[in-house]
Amino acid sequence: MNIHSSEALFEKANQFIPGGVNSPVRAFKAVGGTPLFIKSARGPYIYDEDDNQYIELINSWGPMILGHCNELIEKAVSDALQHSFSFGAPTRKEVEMAERIVSMVPSVEKVRMVNSGTEATMSAIRVARGFTGRDKIIKFEGCYHGHGDSFLIAAGSGAATFGAPDSPGVTKGVAQDTLTAPYNDLEAVQQLVDANPKQIAALIIEPVVGNMGCVLPEPGFLEGLRSLCDKEGIVLIFDEVMTGFRLSKGGAQERFGVIPDMTTLGKIIGGGMPVGAYGGKEEIMNCVSPAGPVYQAGTLSGNPIAMSAGLAMLEYLHDHAEVYLTLDNSGVKLTQGFRKSMEKLGVEYSINQIGSMYTLFFTNEKVYNFTSAKTSDLSLYGRYFHAMLRRGVYLGPSQFESMFLSTALNDALLEQVIQANDDALNEILA
Ligand code: PMP
Repeated sequence: MNIHSSEALFEKANQFIPGGVNSPVRAFKAVGGTPLFIKSARGPYIYDEDDNQYIELINSWGPMILGHCNELIEKAVSDALQHSFSFGAPTRKEVEMAERIVSMVPSVEKVRMVNSGTEATMSAIRVARGFTGRDKIIKFEGCYHGHGDSFLIAAGSGAATFGAPDSPGVTKGVAQDTLTAPYNDLEAVQQLVDANPKQIAALIIEPVVGNMGCVLPEPGFLEGLRSLCDKEGIVLIFDEVMTGFRLSKGGAQERFGVIPDMTTLGKIIGGGMPVGAYGGKEEIMNCVSPAGPVYQAGTLSGNPIAMSAGLAMLEYLHDHAEVYLTLDNSGVKLTQGFRKSMEKLGVEYSINQIGSMYTLFFTNEKVYNFTSAKTSDLSLYGRYFHAMLRRGVYLGPSQFESMFLSTALNDALLEQVIQANDDALNEILA
């Protein structure tokens, strides 16, 4: 496989951009080698600068749930382009977007648009603090909620990949207001709450985790958090930046039937454009400026091009419930194929999958929290990643990530990925 153009670009990028990339996981540090510089993508395929073609299992880390260059979204964007790209003033599209989100996401009665998932989570905890008059928050080890200071404590995704779950630059003052518990450990949460009476403003969680790899909540865990938060007056925030509009049209909250007080959204909501949102109960959201005293703003928030892309995406998902059935079937089919190969070859593995999210962990331990995720053989994952790449399959460049399937993957392509998995394992185990 010739990747000369990517190699040359990476060398040059390193002169001008820290680490050569604008977001750390992209640098392939966890798996070694040169990151691929991407030129284009269409449907189920992505192409690098050397015109190599790969089947997409990342899909821009989630947003491209219908595959790349979906016609409806392309048309919505090109129509919007006729009317200028930004106004910094209210628009009809923002109202339609808010109404659409409220109609789809059970917990959301009012919503504010922002420009990224990070902004959404940062804003949500500020609002929860303003609403409760309390300072502390609880998060879970290995969950990632963007790069806001409060969240870079025991963080997942790139922070976990680079072995820096607690970042320099976060002040002690901020760090001491973030309490952490192991995922799926209700008792640990109860202990934190007991040790900090009436001090906890919010509990934020990925209701299904993507950022330590895909990890599911055990039966009763989300329900337990819900009743604990109710009892203690803690704002329960579901960070559905990954799971929103992916695990069902109403996200993980709809799929699991547990309704938080606030929800943060991103990725799919922008149809590929940089968008985030946070919303929740009306009485909480009415704290947000200018309705209330908690300040939060954005020059480009509700950008008309981004709103057009996102709205076209959400309308499609709203009107096509069969999308979720297709994605569920794809997730099951793919992981069943993988399981067969792993068993046949006697590889230690553990697969977590729900709908169109999955992670193949190289460990035979059940993965239910960050500690168990870290029992994976990371160097084996690196070799597997490159063996898959050589076979034309584009995966997440770290063990601690979830894959994101799209509706553009038909049965023949899924078979191709299953075959590539089998061949790749045969090669690296030989
Ligand atoms: N929350 C979750 C659950 C995420 O997965 C991410 C990003 N992967 C974020 C927040 C941050 O979103 P962004 O990268 O758009 O700032």
